Amino acid sequence: MSTTSPTLSIGGLTAFTTIDFPDHLAAVIFCQGCAWRCGYCQNTSLLDRHVQPTLTWQQVEAFLVRRQGLLDAVVFSGGEPTLQKGLLEAMQRVRDLGFKVGLHTAGMHSKRLAELLPFLDWIGFDIKAPFQNYAAITGVANSGKQPLESTKRVLESGIAYEFRTTVHPQLLNESDVLALATSLADLGVQRYVLQDCRTQHCLEPSLQNLSYNEILANENLIQAIRVLIPQMIIRKM
Ligand code: SF4
Repeated sequence: MSTTSPTLSIGGLTAFTTIDFPDHLAAVIFCQGCAWRCGYCQNTSLLDRHVQPTLTWQQVEAFLVRRQGLLDAVVFSGGEPTLQKGLLEAMQRVRDLGFKVGLHTAGMHSKRLAELLPFLDWIGFDIKAPFQNYAAITGVANSGKQPLESTKRVLESGIAYEFRTTVHPQLLNESDVLALATSLADLGVQRYVLQDCRTQHCLEPSLQNLSYNEILANENLIQAIRVLIPQMIIRKM
């Protein structure tokens, strides 16, 4: 093990999961800090990058050494992991330990993402809204530009991916979802997940307690999207 450590603010670790990297047993490292403030964000404790990290890289790496041969992969999640200066080095260290590397991102930093892609085995990419409407979800003006660029880079790279959109009916209507799926299909996306919104811990209190997600129950809409992207999955909570 190297004596220096990647610069990474770590807010948590999931030791074992089967759902964060498809078909793999994985650990998840949660990075602190995010530039956006999506109303439905569930990881609110990770948003502020100035909060004292809960784990050091040395602790995480020691854990991973103990899991060699038991886990297939390590996923970097957040927050927004691509904002971490030390992410590339951390990924290399994880790879050196023999694990595959996954990334959860919202694609908000396309240049850094492009640098990371050669070190990734799989990416879960959160697409928030039609690219021109991002601010309505993220609270940040012009925030769709970087994800559009990142989407193109992921598709060009040939890496395995899952694009997914969290659907909250107060933030996206059916026309939004269809327009978004159409633009993703036009870009060449072939695997797309529409996922239900967990609302119990939403950053924005008015979005909590969603009892029925009529968009994900709309069979006509789902069929229309399946025509565009055959590998389309509905993920309900
Ligand atoms: S991009 Fe992700 S981590 Fe950042 S605020 Fe939105 S949901 Fe939360």
